[in-house]
Amino acid sequence: MTPSSNLKAFADSITATTSPFRSYLSDLHRQYLPLTDGAVADYIPELALADPSWFGIAAATVDGQVFEVGDCDQTFTVQSISKAFVYGLALEDHGRDYVNSKVGVEPTGEAFNAIVLDEATNRPYNPMVNAGAIATADLIKGKDGTERLKRMLDMFSRYTGRSHDIHVPVFLSEKATGNRNRAIAYLMLNFGMVSDRIDETLDLYFQQCSILVTARDLSLMAATLANGGINPVTGDRALDQRYVQDVVSVMLTCGMYDSSGDWAYRVGMPAKSGVGGGITAVAPGKLGIGTFSPPLDAKGNSVRGIQVCQTLSQDFGLHPFNAAAPPRDLAAWINGSEGTNSW
Ligand code: GLN
Repeated sequence: MTPSSNLKAFADSITATTSPFRSYLSDLHRQYLPLTDGAVADYIPELALADPSWFGIAAATVDGQVFEVGDCDQTFTVQSISKAFVYGLALEDHGRDYVNSKVGVEPTGEAFNAIVLDEATNRPYNPMVNAGAIATADLIKGKDGTERLKRMLDMFSRYTGRSHDIHVPVFLSEKATGNRNRAIAYLMLNFGMVSDRIDETLDLYFQQCSILVTARDLSLMAATLANGGINPVTGDRALDQRYVQDVVSVMLTCGMYDSSGDWAYRVGMPAKSGVGGGITAVAPGKLGIGTFSPPLDAKGNSVRGIQVCQTLSQDFGLHPFNAAAPPRDLAAWINGSEGTNSW
């Protein structure tokens, strides 16, 4: 960091602690902490260890301010949230036409782990369901599993500005219990939709689900997409500008499992959730939101996370199709003054 970027980071950290937006997020946290609906994922024992009261809300603006309330440093496994970002890496590795020939962009309305392929093309429907995510992981280049995993971890680091590890017990449990994912992978292999290094790719998929992140990381990942692929804090490019729209569009149509339509209707921010309890949500050109709260609804989405995103969307007009003036002006709340609205 240069001295001037140090100074900027210092100034931003002051804003981040004194801004009215921070108080607003604290109020949201207080409002939804008592919400105890939902259940922590327990399909593997490691996830069942999560404390249902963990709750973090983070927001990062496209000019690099980060706001954090609650458990924003608590690590958890990224799970399905990885799917959106790995899709971006596959697009960079192969370009849109080739990736589209292997994975569609159509919502399924089915559960994320459904064993279903498009009958006409044998493609998985989209990269956010397990079939599509495994086909996408297959596309990640590298001479062996180690190099392919390293490329994924490096990509996550560009989005978050820090290094990442996998949670080995979660990886081993995903692998030990992952027969359904193996069935999906071998079905795709039967149709020639994935390469024959399928066991290595399944390991890679289980590893990508086991990468440890925080709510702060998720806010920066979303803010990077909101900022055209450049991490707004480090200035590093995480995703080629050409593919940002592709990733964000698929998040909007398919990112919240089989409640993506409901989410688009109520919240509208392109988002991706994971069974570890995380949600990453993008307000293009404005900010990224990361929430963490392990109890999930019946569709696999974090109950508190949904409420937080829906309330933020309504209060600040973050639904992309909302043309009405929002109840609150985001820039004014962040900067603590009216009249500096630069959005
Ligand atoms: N790792 C889990 C699986 O592949 C799912 C991840 C998720 O968040 N849905 O089944």
